[in-house]
Amino acid sequence: MTLGKNFRLPLEVKPTRYRADLRVDLDGARFDGRLAIDLAISAPGGALVLHGVDLTVSSAELETAAATLPATNIHADAESETLTFDFAAPLPAGGATLHLAWSGKFSPGLRGLYRAGGLAVTQFEAADARRVFPCFDEPAFKAVWQITLDGVAPGLVAISNGRVLSDEAVHDDPAGRRRVVFAPTPPLSSYLVALILGDLAASESTDARGIIIRTWAVPEKSALTLFAQVAAAAVLPLLEDYFGLPYPFGKLDQIGVPNFEAGAMENAGAITFREVALLLDVTTAPLAVQKRAAEVITHELAHQWFGNLVTMVWWDDLWLNEAFATWMAYKIVDAWRPEWRIWMDFEGGKGAAMLLDSLQAAHAIRADVHNAEEAGESFDAITYEKGGAVLRMVEGFLNSLGEDRFREGLRLYMRRHREANATADDLWEALATASGQPIVALANGWIRQVGYPVVALGLDAAAGRVSLAQRRFFADPGAREAGPATTWLVPMVLRFGDAKGVKEQRVLLDAPERTVTLDAEGPVSWCLGNADARGFFRTAYDAPTLARLLPELPTLRPAERMALVSDQWALVRAGVVPIAAFLDLVASLGREEDHVVLEDLVGRLATIEHRHLDERERGRFEAFVRELLGERAAKLGWGPAAGGEEDDETRLRRAALLRALVLLARDPTWVAEAERRLPSGSGAPGVDPNLLDVVVTAAARGADPARFEELRRRARVETDPAAKRRYLHALARVEDRALASRAVALSLGDDVPMQDFTSYLSVLLSNRVTRDEAWRLVQTRFAEVRAKADSPMLLRRLVEALAALPEQRHLDEITAFLSSHPIDGTKQATAQTLERLRMDVELRERLVPEIAAWLQARVKPKR
Ligand SMILES: [Zn+2]
Repeated sequence: MTLGKNFRLPLEVKPTRYRADLRVDLDGARFDGRLAIDLAISAPGGALVLHGVDLTVSSAELETAAATLPATNIHADAESETLTFDFAAPLPAGGATLHLAWSGKFSPGLRGLYRAGGLAVTQFEAADARRVFPCFDEPAFKAVWQITLDGVAPGLVAISNGRVLSDEAVHDDPAGRRRVVFAPTPPLSSYLVALILGDLAASESTDARGIIIRTWAVPEKSALTLFAQVAAAAVLPLLEDYFGLPYPFGKLDQIGVPNFEAGAMENAGAITFREVALLLDVTTAPLAVQKRAAEVITHELAHQWFGNLVTMVWWDDLWLNEAFATWMAYKIVDAWRPEWRIWMDFEGGKGAAMLLDSLQAAHAIRADVHNAEEAGESFDAITYEKGGAVLRMVEGFLNSLGEDRFREGLRLYMRRHREANATADDLWEALATASGQPIVALANGWIRQVGYPVVALGLDAAAGRVSLAQRRFFADPGAREAGPATTWLVPMVLRFGDAKGVKEQRVLLDAPERTVTLDAEGPVSWCLGNADARGFFRTAYDAPTLARLLPELPTLRPAERMALVSDQWALVRAGVVPIAAFLDLVASLGREEDHVVLEDLVGRLATIEHRHLDERERGRFEAFVRELLGERAAKLGWGPAAGGEEDDETRLRRAALLRALVLLARDPTWVAEAERRLPSGSGAPGVDPNLLDVVVTAAARGADPARFEELRRRARVETDPAAKRRYLHALARVEDRALASRAVALSLGDDVPMQDFTSYLSVLLSNRVTRDEAWRLVQTRFAEVRAKADSPMLLRRLVEALAALPEQRHLDEITAFLSSHPIDGTKQATAQTLERLRMDVELRERLVPEIAAWLQARVKPKR
């Protein structure tokens, strides 16, 4: 008999404490130990069921007040991933302790307990604690974890959630092995338990209000730990102040792991990171790398409250963890380093979420989740970035009614549910209590409904009125809602110019259509629909309203210009706005000063070049980019005049401009200059770190076999994680036909670690010289490809990477291939990828001739 994939553990038996005594054999890649689980049994029952996968339980007995009952049968069920223990007598109500001895092997891939370089590391979220511990592996079962590691070889470091209580040599062990006892944790869900064992070096420790912080790396990277220490020590007190509760886990270790599935994992008190998100040298790291690391570090620290202290009951509220950590990270980093303007970086992630959420295959932020596999599918831009954006929108709405009502609501929620579990409704209730506002209806519309609205906005300038109309936005011009039209309560902030100046007005759009009289004096000259781009919706202006807005572009805030470009591009895709109007808009932004807006613009031009450009018009396209940005790039050059000082904004503006000139305009002079600057050693003397991506990409594109091997060598030996990734991705950017095969062949070998495999593949699939061969590799060596993406998240990335292929024939082949080779845990990713591909292919057919016509009318080719 099988319990089925959707089986959930009964609530009558709850663990209160795990005492695990574990021996990890690093060389043999196996573990064994003894485990005691204290249970609270609320109703008598038959067998005892808990989770376990690929574990061998050699003995088990249940100790109750009355008797000790040996297990008469232990049954493992593969589909439900459970172990069922039968005893000679039924389970009595009351307290009991399950004692067992068990063993298992390291998991292949990047989950459970696995090998990462010389380390043994755990990664348990969503549901892989069961690959190491027999346990109640659902978030609602919180318990104290008391872990001891036995037989730790001399010289190895052992880290877990609790601080080290004792670390002593095992008596009479000739090999000098140790026994490390960790402090018991506060009540913790199993997915947050962690063990890290291996040769690690720590930074000096920092004391932040009594919390000892350390950052760990493999010894050759220990010089790169300072930034993470400084960031964690700075943001931890800011988080304590925001939540009004002290950091709950006693100590904080941050560990850089050489092979890691996600960006990082918020294990309580023992946070594991992909190295590139933690380890860096501020003197050689581009600012983007520093900001990303600060954001990830803060995100994981925010989880220590949101997720770890207060945990979702079930995976359908995963967004409670991820949306909050996402939003909070930006908020706190912004408080720590306001000059970074980190919220502008958020706009990029929000754009990706809006794209995903405009598909028919989108899902609600709070999604139905039936099992652990589906839980894994929810880790996407809708859960993180859309969730974060919706919270930011709700915060703006509540705070407009009274300062910090949102924070008060969150503090109440934290106090009510600390060391326990909560649902979305608990949160809205706390926010409603603190604010006195009917927040539930507003919030649920955004959390439980799929998609988001586009608001059509028409300005009657003379009358000082705007008409607003909302409908669900689809990227596909042919898509319609199947059932009744979805509507949202849309908290809008309108900004407009009148006879007296500029004003803002709040409007809660609570109907499909509404006309709003602006609080204006005299005629209204222009009106913006989404001030600060805070709302998670798109604005579609009618032609006269847009014509009034365009002259105001320079006075709008950068995020608003970016949102306008993003909305207009989305409306092009949806068949509402002609591409010529969009290209006119791009052409009018040639003087853009804000580097984030500029980068976004260059990114959109790169999309056009990659997907929608008629090869015969390449010369005209390159000339257009040169005309648009060449003069400004020339003015800035490759660095400040000798002895000149520059601010970050200038450096980043230069990086965006040079990216356009070198990589899009492919201007031979600029390209030669870029190649000449390829750093000779491991450092980059004389080159602004922010320019290294452009420099190394140019060097890869123009590489001959000798340079290719040199880049390959650097990708192998480089200790700085961002530099290593840069060299690795460069290999996938070659444009020499003979090197293309080599670049593709490398993907399955040792040059490309598992954690980087899908990103390397996605660069290959985006490169017109390598893409067909890379796609052939996926098809012909699929078993190896799949084995190299051996974790739920990497498999989804593998499917998503295919969306880079641009042509109809690709779409046909991918559709056929994925239906004959279905991949577990990628149902959503597959549906989304196929929908996106189909739309992008149709868009290509529509746009290629129109873009060609626009270029012909506007640009004279120079070569
Ligand atoms: Zn997270």
